[in-house]
Amino acid sequence: MDVTKIFGSMVFNDDVMKERLPKDVYRVLHKTIDDGVHLQLDIANVVAEAMKNWAIEKGATHFTHWFQPMTGITAEKHDGFIAPEGNGRVLMEFSGKELVKGEPDASSFPSGGLRATFEARGYTAWDPTSYAFIKDDTLCIPTAFCSYSGEARDKKTPLLRSMQALDKQAIRILRLFGDTTAKRVMTTVGPEQEYFLIDCSVYKRRPDLIYTGRTLFGAKPPKGQEMEDHYFGMIKPRVKAYMKELDEELWKLGILSKTEHNEVAPAQHELAPIFSTTNIATDHNQLTMELMKIVAGKHHMVCLLHEKPFAGVNGSGKHNNWSMSTDTGKNLLEPGDTPSQNAQFLLFLMAVIKAVDEYQGLLRMSVASAANDHRLGANEAPPAIMSVFIGDELDAILKSIEEGTDYHDPEKKLMSIGASVLPHIPCDTTDRNRTSPVAFTGNKFEFRSLGSSASISGLNIVLNTIVAQTLSEYAEILEKADDFDAALNKLIRDEIVKHKRVIFNGNGYSEEWVQEAEKRGLLNLKTTPDALGSFIEPKNMKTFEDQGVYSESEIKARYEILHENYYKTINIEALTMISMVKNNITAAVAKYEAVLADVILKKSQVLSKDACIAEESLLKHISRLACSLQCKLGKLEEDVAKEKELTDVVALAKYHQEVILADMAALREVVDELEPMIPSDLWPYPTYAEILYSVRYQPV
Ligand code: ADP
Ligand code: MG
Repeated sequence: MDVTKIFGSMVFNDDVMKERLPKDVYRVLHKTIDDGVHLQLDIANVVAEAMKNWAIEKGATHFTHWFQPMTGITAEKHDGFIAPEGNGRVLMEFSGKELVKGEPDASSFPSGGLRATFEARGYTAWDPTSYAFIKDDTLCIPTAFCSYSGEARDKKTPLLRSMQALDKQAIRILRLFGDTTAKRVMTTVGPEQEYFLIDCSVYKRRPDLIYTGRTLFGAKPPKGQEMEDHYFGMIKPRVKAYMKELDEELWKLGILSKTEHNEVAPAQHELAPIFSTTNIATDHNQLTMELMKIVAGKHHMVCLLHEKPFAGVNGSGKHNNWSMSTDTGKNLLEPGDTPSQNAQFLLFLMAVIKAVDEYQGLLRMSVASAANDHRLGANEAPPAIMSVFIGDELDAILKSIEEGTDYHDPEKKLMSIGASVLPHIPCDTTDRNRTSPVAFTGNKFEFRSLGSSASISGLNIVLNTIVAQTLSEYAEILEKADDFDAALNKLIRDEIVKHKRVIFNGNGYSEEWVQEAEKRGLLNLKTTPDALGSFIEPKNMKTFEDQGVYSESEIKARYEILHENYYKTINIEALTMISMVKNNITAAVAKYEAVLADVILKKSQVLSKDACIAEESLLKHISRLACSLQCKLGKLEEDVAKEKELTDVVALAKYHQEVILADMAALREVVDELEPMIPSDLWPYPTYAEILYSVRYQPV
């Protein structure tokens, strides 16, 4: 396979544009892409025609406006290119208008009240900064999705706004440092995606996996991840074949899929792309998740993207590696070689640290979901407490700046600290602190709390916005200063003092940290309902509005949808549990009770009553558990029914977290105790061992 040939072959990228568009049209389109200049219809018509011809040559028959509604997945409505010619024949048509704007029936997408207060219809608008591509014989045009009054009803629009906000503020800072060449600052993201692969045959027999994406029952398997033999282990041929095909599909779409390896849990793997601009990375991650599932199907496997498909084994996350970089190619989180570069670096570093400290709640909110609550703080993913890891080297530097003392670099050279005389900062690539939610890893921050199934846009919208906000506050101070060096020196020192409480280099999984964090006054928002309130805190809303990212009504809409998603997820899980117990588990237990009773009866006739002690005690034990099963089931059913009395989404979310989740845990406990006691031919569902080891070394 010639990777360089297939890479991007299904993308209407810059090369294709250059080749197929008249020079002047290409130039104008580029102005739109680079500077956001409005695209005129006559230009759009030419672009659409070229796009259509290209797509048809590649076998496409349809086109779609591909967008990201607030459901967190992508949406598309396919239209054929065909148009009647009048003589019973058809033409293939695609106009500039169709390229630039679409009007999907928006009424069935979540609006969180935006629908009630605003125009019901929505429209999609082309995002020319993300290339069109072909998927499933369909030309996909990445679009933003808005209501007619201009309210963002998707995850792309606010992301683009947040990137703009950060761009504006970062440029202000760069100008202060004398950088007059950089025209734009973009945020970059490389999301590392974790997932599980299991065989279709076991998946088909687990309604919980089908309806909820995770197992709601399952006793601990004899072998889990305790041997630590899966991480980076040899990749099984079936999985290898899957990864190969997935890579090919991703490369065709211009997605820079780069690294693949086994993860900690059995059947768990990871895929990491090379980073790109945040909105592209977001589109690409959505496509990656989609293709991961489709390609798995072709290999008779199922790709589980849920954050916690199995209790007792590690769940899946998505590490969001994030940085800021100029259009001239400079990474602003790269410690430079000269002192002045380092001062600039330290200011950007402090801006992120300050942002994490001041907006801990928002960050926690941006990764909150029913599924992710199972991971955060469970000693497999960062705790719910937000803190920043910067490593010993940087920590020592910040300390000497704070204390005004001299700093000894690793070569034991003495360095005076000052804004214009900062020490050389070694690029520390040795960081392997895996317990921190926000880790500085040499030239980028790694945000580790995000869940594997989540769109990366929510977290990045928050990140871009809060860093834009802190940068704007720095710019405000420094732009007014008479003596820039002195002001910068003081600012950095003041900021270290103010925000050092959020820096933590120790073990984030430890109980001591929980206590220490509380002493430091850091938030510990353990569950989604606890975290979502941060969204509507006045200070946070003001920041979103000031940075032009969300209006108040857009925030309220999302606040409502997040609550809805939370309790609906749990409600579906509860109903699935109820039906599994009622339809099959109860019957399986009863069947085994009948078998035992029969044995006891027959044995006592043939031998004596004394000969049945073992069976009798087993039957008694199972019978007690069966009783408990019905009792726990009844309680869950009762409480699920009570939900109807609540109407407010916040109350509903809280109720599901406090009552329903506890009921579910109690019911699960009994079922998991019963499972290993019932003969496997009677147990209706594949066990953990069967699921986790369903993909074996068998040939493809
Ligand atoms: P690890 O976290 O396993 O050490 P790497 O250091 O290779 O892995 O990087 C992980 C991810 O970080 C990759 O997706 C990589 O492309 C991304 N990355 C590297 N540099 C940047 C950057 N400047 N901005 C955003 N992401 C980056
Ligand atoms: Mg990583």
